[in-house]
Amino acid sequence: MTAAQRVAIVGAGPAGFYAAGFLLEAGLAVDLLDALPTPYGLVRAGVAPDHPKIKRVAKAYERTARRPGFRFFGGVALGRDIQRDELLARYDAVVYATGMATDNRLGIPGEDRPGSHPATDFVAWYNGHPDHADRTFDLAVERAVVVGNGNVALDVARMLVLDPDELAGTDIADHALEALRAAQVEEVVVLGRRGPAQAAFTNPELLELGELRGVDVVVDPADLELDERSAAWLDSDEADRTRRRNVEILRDYAARPAGGAPRRIVLRFLRSPLEILPRGDGDEAVGALRIGRNRLVPDRRRAGALAAAPTGEEETIACGLVLRSIGYRGRPLPGVPFDARRGLIRNVAGRVVDDDGRPLPGEYAVGWIKRGPSGVIGTNKADAADTVAQLLADRDAGRLNVPAEPDPDGAATAAWLARRAPEAVTWTGWQAIDAHETALGAPHGRPRVKLVRVADLLDAANGRVGTPAG
Ligand code: NAP
Repeated sequence: MTAAQRVAIVGAGPAGFYAAGFLLEAGLAVDLLDALPTPYGLVRAGVAPDHPKIKRVAKAYERTARRPGFRFFGGVALGRDIQRDELLARYDAVVYATGMATDNRLGIPGEDRPGSHPATDFVAWYNGHPDHADRTFDLAVERAVVVGNGNVALDVARMLVLDPDELAGTDIADHALEALRAAQVEEVVVLGRRGPAQAAFTNPELLELGELRGVDVVVDPADLELDERSAAWLDSDEADRTRRRNVEILRDYAARPAGGAPRRIVLRFLRSPLEILPRGDGDEAVGALRIGRNRLVPDRRRAGALAAAPTGEEETIACGLVLRSIGYRGRPLPGVPFDARRGLIRNVAGRVVDDDGRPLPGEYAVGWIKRGPSGVIGTNKADAADTVAQLLADRDAGRLNVPAEPDPDGAATAAWLARRAPEAVTWTGWQAIDAHETALGAPHGRPRVKLVRVADLLDAANGRVGTPAG
C-alpha cells in the first residue's frame, strides 16, 4: 500500500476546514496550520457575538478534526515560523486558505484621524482576536457613522446600539463588553454610496435591525425613491430576490411611525464620505463627516451595472466615530503569486498560477483569498469542493508537487514544526482551550469567556491553568 499523500492547509477558517474535510474523505492526510493558537478563523473572530447560531457550524469542523489523518498546528505562521519552499519540500500539495484581513481604503482626507477605524479592527476587537485586544475605541460619542452597505456594516452598527445586557450572555470579549456598557452612542448612521436597490445586505440581517430592543430604525422615504434604471432593474428578471426583498424591508422601515427608542440606526443611501473633519480647538479626533449626495449612472466598467456619481450637493454630519466597512483585501504571502489589483492569490479555479498563468504544481487556494470577500460561511464549502476537485484531478494525472523530503508518516514534519514553533497548539491543545473557555463562561450563562492573549491561550492549551472559580 502506498502512503497517503500529505497536504498542508494554511489557515484554519471555514474554507480551510471544508478543504480538509474533502481531502480527508479522498484519503489524503492533512496538516491544518494557523497563525493563531485557535482554529475557526472568522467563525471565532468575525461572526458577531449575538449570532451564536452561525457559530454552530464549528461542530462540523470538529467532526472533520476527528477524522484519521487530520492534524492541527495552531500558532504557526507562514512567513514568520515557516516558509513556502519549506512546505513544498515536505508536502505533496499546499492549500492557502488565509482569508482577507486588510480593509479597503476610502482615500479621503482625514481617513486616519483618531476615531476613524476600519470596521475590521472593531470586529476583531469585540471578538477577542489577540492582535486587537489592546485597541481602544472612543465610544463616548453620541453619533457614529458606518460607511458601507454590506453585512459587516450592519454587524458593527448593531453592536454599537445593542443593549449591553443582551451582549452579556454572549461570547463577546470582556474588554469590549465593558467598553460597550460605558458607551454613549445614541445614533448610528449607515451610509450607502449607491441606492437601496444596490445595497449588499442580506434579508435576515436587514430584518433583524427592526427587532432590536430599544432601537428604532429610521429610513427617509425620500431616500427610497428609486431612479428609473433601478426601478426597471428591480422589476426585471435580472433582479435577485434578495435585493427586491431588501427594498420592501426598507420601505417598511420608512413607513414606521417615529418611535421614541433610546437608540437609533439611520440608514441613508446615495451618500459618499468626502472628508473626515476634526473636532476643532486643537482636537484632531473625528468631529464630523462631510458627505456628498450621489446619483446613479451606468457603470462604465461593468455592463448593466449602476455606479454612484456625485451630484455636487454636500452636507456635514456631526459624529465622533467613523467605522469604514467597505470590503476586505488579502495580504500577500511571501513567495506566493499575488494579484495586487484584486487583493488575492493569483489563481485559476483554485490552482495557483504564476504571472504567465501557468499552474504551480501542488499549490492551491480556497475561500476569500481565492475568490474575494463574498458570500456567507457556507459558500466556502462549494468553493473548497471546487478547489479540491482540481487537486484530485492533478493527483490522478501525476501533477502534484514532488516533495524533496517526503515524509510518509508525517513524523519528521511534526518534529520540524515543533522546532520552528515550540509552543504550537495541537488539536488536543485546542480542546483544552475550548474546555477552559467554556468552563469560564458556564457560571455566567455564557457560551464561553474568550482568552484574548496568546500567552493565556498557550497556558490553557498546555494545562497551565487552574480550575476556574465560579
Ligand atoms: P460587501 O457585502 O461586499 O459590502 C461592501 C460595501 O462597501 C458595499 O455596500 C459597497 O458598495 C461598499 N463600498 C465599497 N467601496 C466603497 C467606497 N469607496 N465608498 C463607499 N462604499 C463603498 O462586504 P462586507 O460587508 O465586508 O461583507 C463581506 C462578506 O461577508 C459578504 O459576502 C457578506 O454577506 C458576508 N457577511 C455575512 C454576514 C452574515 O451572514 N451575517 C455577516 C458579515 C459578513 P458598492 O456595492 O457600491 O460597491
